[in-house]
Amino acid sequence: MSSDCIFCKIISGAIPAKKIYEDEDFIAFHDIKPMAKVHFLIVPKLHVDTLKDCDDSHQVLLGSALLLAPKLAAEQGLAGFKTLINTGREGGQEVFHIHIHVFGGGKTDA
Ligand code: AMP
Repeated sequence: MSSDCIFCKIISGAIPAKKIYEDEDFIAFHDIKPMAKVHFLIVPKLHVDTLKDCDDSHQVLLGSALLLAPKLAAEQGLAGFKTLINTGREGGQEVFHIHIHVFGGGKTDA
C-alpha cells in the first residue's frame, strides 16, 4: 500500500471505481477514460510501481494477472481483446502501480 497511489486508494475503497472483479490478490475495474468500448484494468493488490520493478518473486503474480484477462474479457462479452502494460514514463505509464489494460469491442467515438 502506497498512501499517495490512486490504485491503492481504489483497492482500499477510499475512492470509488466501477469494479468488475476482486479476489485476495487482484482487483479489476473499468478505466475512467475508456479507449475502447470495453476497457478495464487488472491491478494486483500488491503495490509494485512498474513491470521493471518485478523479479522472480513476482512470477506467479504476473502469470495470474495475465490469466485473468481472458476470463474477465469473456465475462464482459468480448470474443477477443488486446492487452497492454505501459512501463515507465517513456512507456506511457501514468499511474505507477503495475496494471494490465484490457481493450475490446472496438474503439470509442471519443
Ligand atoms: P497507464 O498510462 O498505463 O498508467 O494507465 C493508467 C490508466 O488509469 C489510464 O488509462 C487512466 O484513464 C486510468 N485511471 C486513472 N485514474 C483512474 C480511476 N480513478 N479509475 C479508473 N481508471 C483510472
